[in-house]
Amino acid sequence: MTTALAELAGALLAGQRRALAKAITLAESTRPEHEQQTQHLLTLLQGRAGPSIRVGLTGVPGVGKSTFIEALGVLLAEQGHRVAVLAVDPSSARTGGSIMGDKTRMPQLTVHPNAFIRPSPSGGTLGGVARRTRETTLLCEAAGYDVILVETVGVGQSETHVAGMTDLFVLLTLPNAGDELQGIKRGIMELADICVVNKADTAPRAAIRAQTELRTALTLLTPHDAPWRPVALKASAVTGEGIPELWKKVQEYISQVDIAAKRHQQTAGWFDELLREAAWREFRERTGPTRMQEVRRAVQAGDLTAVQGVEKLLSREAAQV
Ligand code: GDP
Repeated sequence: MTTALAELAGALLAGQRRALAKAITLAESTRPEHEQQTQHLLTLLQGRAGPSIRVGLTGVPGVGKSTFIEALGVLLAEQGHRVAVLAVDPSSARTGGSIMGDKTRMPQLTVHPNAFIRPSPSGGTLGGVARRTRETTLLCEAAGYDVILVETVGVGQSETHVAGMTDLFVLLTLPNAGDELQGIKRGIMELADICVVNKADTAPRAAIRAQTELRTALTLLTPHDAPWRPVALKASAVTGEGIPELWKKVQEYISQVDIAAKRHQQTAGWFDELLREAAWREFRERTGPTRMQEVRRAVQAGDLTAVQGVEKLLSREAAQV
């Protein structure tokens, strides 16, 4: 197996698409031996990737994410960039469907030799999907992709995960910002480094108004000493207006923010998250669901305080070790 993995790593580093697809399938598998092989593969690939830009992209369904990614992706691929498009879609984790499953969503990019599109892994928890997307990012970078676009459906928790694995985060909104702004969760606005009013072609004046409103909102949300002041742009994914300007802003961001430091911090955060999950899983397995329920019921009934309940379970653990 070690030889097979070394061969896979070699083929992947040579930029072979099939090897990349195979490695991603391995990373998406939840079988313990595949998880182990994935970690081994990642170790073989460590430090072998060139420089890259990781961009997260979100917005409510219908805002134009796939059209936008198609326009941006084709622009970059034509410039010689190698573009990978990944997705984090918690609904696909639940339903088995996927926002990225339908290849017709990005017809030009799908067939471009410089692009690689991967649907959201289906099945598993949001945490699991996010973890696999992180690993897929590393695999794509090792295969020579220098622009990683991670799409997420702008409806909840997945944005925090994606912001934690990308260098910057782009929020797409619509020209009729009055209602739209209320629909955007404040938490998502706070994650945005660049906001883009898409579909500016449909309502040019409303788009300018929305841009101004966003600018004000972003100014209010951003601390004075922040290394980057989030910007609001307008664009049309259909006409292509504003897409080169967006990319210029991305480059500005990359030159102003210490990306290496940000990634180190993200890796440490990832470690914390994995450790928390693993420790919890181990504790739950060792304690057993019956015992946990028992103590929980005692807390609920008022026989124990919540703190006493926790202490009881933990000291039982300690006594066993
Ligand atoms: P998603 O759900 O966020 O991925 O949105 P889609 O990319 O599927 O776009 C939803 C609809 O809006 C499609 O019919 C697109 O053709 C259309 N659309 C997307 N961007 C624009 C734009 O900038 N201008 C116009 N006029 N239509 C757009």
